[in-house]
Amino acid sequence: MDEKELEELVKKVVKGEIKFHEVEEYTDGDSELATEIRRKALERLTGVELKHIGSYTIDANEAMAKNIENMIGAVQVPVGIAGPLLVHGEYAEGEYYVPLATTEGALVASVNRGCSTITESGGAHVRVVWDGMTRAPVFKLPNAREALKFLGWVQEHFEEIKEVAESTTRHGELIEIDEFLTGRHAFLRFRFDTKDAMGMNMVTIAVEEAVKWIEENYPKAKCVSVSGNVCVDKKPSWLNNIMGRGRSVVAEVEVPRDVVEEKLKTTPEAMAEVNYRKNLVGSATAGNIGFNAHHANIVAAIFIATGQDEAHVVDGSTGYTTMEVTEDGDLYASVTIPSLNVGTVGGGTRVETQRECLEILGVAGGGDPPGTNAREFAEVVGAAVLAGELSLVAALAAGHLGKAHRLLGR
Ligand code: NAP
Repeated sequence: MDEKELEELVKKVVKGEIKFHEVEEYTDGDSELATEIRRKALERLTGVELKHIGSYTIDANEAMAKNIENMIGAVQVPVGIAGPLLVHGEYAEGEYYVPLATTEGALVASVNRGCSTITESGGAHVRVVWDGMTRAPVFKLPNAREALKFLGWVQEHFEEIKEVAESTTRHGELIEIDEFLTGRHAFLRFRFDTKDAMGMNMVTIAVEEAVKWIEENYPKAKCVSVSGNVCVDKKPSWLNNIMGRGRSVVAEVEVPRDVVEEKLKTTPEAMAEVNYRKNLVGSATAGNIGFNAHHANIVAAIFIATGQDEAHVVDGSTGYTTMEVTEDGDLYASVTIPSLNVGTVGGGTRVETQRECLEILGVAGGGDPPGTNAREFAEVVGAAVLAGELSLVAALAAGHLGKAHRLLGR
């Protein structure tokens, strides 16, 4: 396409004769070109020069195929590195460098200090204690008695439902269907092992197929929505905290007293007290879901760097932090993250810059056997969240929080 033709298309988009989503029809499906046309049209419509949004290296054709619509460019978020972070997991073993994408000054420095504390203490021990992505359609039945009968019928036909659901995926495996009843509504919370994928698309497609089969074989049950909010996706929820969703991760470390004093400039007693009065009493007073200092900070920065669904920061932010002084006078600390929705294949993980961040961690793509990369990744995220909690609680215990932000964030 020459300059004149491109200019004609830009003008048509500005006039509204071609809609943003129709531009590819005039570029033979070339999304790189369509992205430029949309951006130029938007510059004229808004009077804003989009020089930086228009400067990027990711493949617009790839991104438009699976990750974005009406693309006009890319927003750049700085990425910093924290580590080495020594992790002893079931899947993760050794030292990791953790990429964090954020614009919050002091965050990377703080997590880095936590990583150094953990590594100096012999490493964090981490386990994935529960694994499964869920989707819960809501069915309407004539009355509660019929809904109850329906729930019994579903369990009797579990093997048939499993076969139908798994027919849509090579990797997904239906593990169980948890049931909830409210009035005449029946909620079926399908739980799948999604291997290395976060799995929300995989599971939704599989559940839609299962729902079709269920409605055909139990006509009194009408599915009103394939997502009935008992999933629970992208909302803070006690159900997820209690039952788990995605990967549930626990990470713990014992930090010797001298390491607390040297690296964190405080004492185990002061940290345990801040944790009790802030993370436990304060969170209970506020009615928070989750009792922690800032799990969301670390989860968000890693999610943005590695192409996770950033809305799942909501789910990943509701965990618990504990801190105690041990009988030997050292510090025991743990974090529990009940709903960490992570994957190393699919979604945004294939975008070039995000994939590079997964490569830094050594977990990009499918694991061998499938599922091992995502679990290794989940363990590293758990250890990194622990690092973040140690550093922030220590800063509060030492009265250094404002100073760090003054120096690094302003
Ligand atoms: P996806 O990109 O839709 O699919 C990933 C696919 O990769 C899997 O379905 C699987 O194909 C294949 N795959 C290849 N190797 C694999 C391995 N080792 N382990 C597992 N799968 C492997 O990703 P997704 O994880 O299912 O969904 C994530 C996306 O869903 C994100 O973009 C997120 O933003 C979006 N999302 C969707 C919904 C929704 O309701 N649909 C809700 C929230 C978020 P097979 O299935 O054939 O095995």
